[in-house]
Amino acid sequence: MTPDPDCLFCKIVAGDIPAEVVHQSERTVAFRDINPQAPLHVLVVPRAHEPNAAASAQADAAMFAEIATTARSVATAEGYNDYRLVFNTGAGVGQTVFHTHCHLLAGRPMTWPPG
Ligand code: IMP
Repeated sequence: MTPDPDCLFCKIVAGDIPAEVVHQSERTVAFRDINPQAPLHVLVVPRAHEPNAAASAQADAAMFAEIATTARSVATAEGYNDYRLVFNTGAGVGQTVFHTHCHLLAGRPMTWPPG
């Protein structure tokens, strides 16, 4: 899918909005969340714009393996073996930016179920 000119994360992927990028590959970009909820809070996004994980799964299921691999690489590089991955998918569960992204969270105890 082509970039959405109104999408914040498309602008970060393009380098038009600054972000603290921690990992890049041909198909993904990982950058620190602007409002971190844990000592490590990174967003792993596909470069290709899709509005959410459900749409990405339909368009390119292999992307999820790449996102998981990227997240593991970032967590390992930052010294964490334990981490949580979250895809908020839809406004009803808290999605606020409608470009597929995976939250990588680590560095503090976490409870279950999530809030
Ligand atoms: P969502 O609620 O799952 O859609 O997550 C969106 C995330 O994007 C939130 O955790 C925000 O803090 C984060 N965010 C919003 N704007 C920026 C930005 O400009 N840079 C990095 N992270 C951002």
